[in-house]
Amino acid sequence: MEVEERLSEVLSRIRESEKAANRPEHAVGLVAVSKTFGAEAIRPVIAAGQRVFGENRVQEAQAKWPELRNETPDLELHLIGPLQSNKAADAVALFDAIETIDREKIARAVSAEMKRQGRNLRLYVQVNTGLEPQKAGVAPEETVAFVRFCHGELGLSIEGLMCIPPIEENPGPHFALLAKLAAQCGLAKLSMGMSGDFETAIAFGATSVRVGSAIFGAR
Ligand SMILES: *Cc1c(COP(=O)(O)O)cnc(C)c1O
Repeated sequence: MEVEERLSEVLSRIRESEKAANRPEHAVGLVAVSKTFGAEAIRPVIAAGQRVFGENRVQEAQAKWPELRNETPDLELHLIGPLQSNKAADAVALFDAIETIDREKIARAVSAEMKRQGRNLRLYVQVNTGLEPQKAGVAPEETVAFVRFCHGELGLSIEGLMCIPPIEENPGPHFALLAKLAAQCGLAKLSMGMSGDFETAIAFGATSVRVGSAIFGAR
């Protein structure tokens, strides 16, 4: 299958899952995860109409997206990988959304850079729903306080929550937990679901899914 066909297949599965979950059409957005793929692999997906993309490394994204953005100005780029504070300036300059705000230091660095650069990014707090030691994200029980800190102390507008469930577990309970935490925080957006589980995530209320290999192929 060509990449255009895989994109169109993923989009129809998203629309079917919306319907099955009694959710309005286009309630769920697609972030096409292009990490490890070069500009030449991404261009056909842009040509097929996809506008929102996710990358997990700042440096890798800097190497390909400025050129792609020149060609297609209405692209939206999401950072979905961990951010170090020494990369905050570059990340704020390049991305339109950061989905991985997960500690005070990063929240402060991103806030300062947005002010300095006069840019207003869409921000998500990443939650480590499985409390995995190797994984980024705030602990579930700290999420409400952390979102409150971002709003109150830093004046950051957090749009939603993001999670990556443990790979070996049934993702449903993790998606349910993220939805519950978002409701407690008064946040409407949920970034959850990847190639293997985005239909489940939509059933649990995802408002955007991050799909890589089902579109671009194996990495
Ligand atoms: C790589 C990645 C994805 C996409 O994973 P696939 O299984 O290829 O769909 C989604 N979210 C994050 C945070 C990722 O790093």
